[in-house]
Amino acid sequence: MKFIVFEGIDGSGLSTQSQLLKEYLTKRTAKILLTKEPTDGLIGMLIRSTLRKRIKFDDTTLALLFAADRTDHLANIKFNNYDYVISDRYYISNFAYQSQTIDLNFLIEINKFARKPDLVIFLDVKPETCIERITHNRDHIELYENIEKLRATKENYLKIMDYLRKNFDLNVVFVDGNRSIEEVRKDIVGAMENQRV
Ligand code: ADP
Repeated sequence: MKFIVFEGIDGSGLSTQSQLLKEYLTKRTAKILLTKEPTDGLIGMLIRSTLRKRIKFDDTTLALLFAADRTDHLANIKFNNYDYVISDRYYISNFAYQSQTIDLNFLIEINKFARKPDLVIFLDVKPETCIERITHNRDHIELYENIEKLRATKENYLKIMDYLRKNFDLNVVFVDGNRSIEEVRKDIVGAMENQRV
């Protein structure tokens, strides 16, 4: 069983490419699970409501909810039944977004029981490109704010992945996600072949 995780900022193509990788892998095996975080479970629903600004938790509580959603997610996946489990986002998302307000060591600590991925595929996309993909007809100020947030998150992603590679031997491949869906897909398939995952 191989556990593959897609990571990247909003609009980088995570759901598109995780679905395409699943389709590619069905040539090898039918035993594939494509899943995502936050989950559709009860704790995931609380998180989604927070992200949509319908309810509010303080940052520490939200961090604990993310970690609890993850342990619940992992407890519900029968890893032995699959050859590949692909997750659209995992703990690195959490670290990259939340360490802007919460201590990274605390976030790592509360996720220490989470299963380590065999491969992390980071879709490296310019924040401007992501904004173009996800927003339409927004006013200038909002666009600017979003770009700033995406830039900060991307920078954080890069720092954190560097740290996790060095200290936790995390296996990360970077894919240039600025190109067409098909070009990106081919690179991901190539990375899978190279890694023998
Ligand atoms: P994420 O899950 O990372 O937020 P999505 O896969 O939902 O991103 O993609 C966001 C939008 O951008 C979708 O409308 C999708 O069709 C489009 N998109 C994804 N990848 C590309 C690409 N390489 N080039 C152009 N548009 C893309």
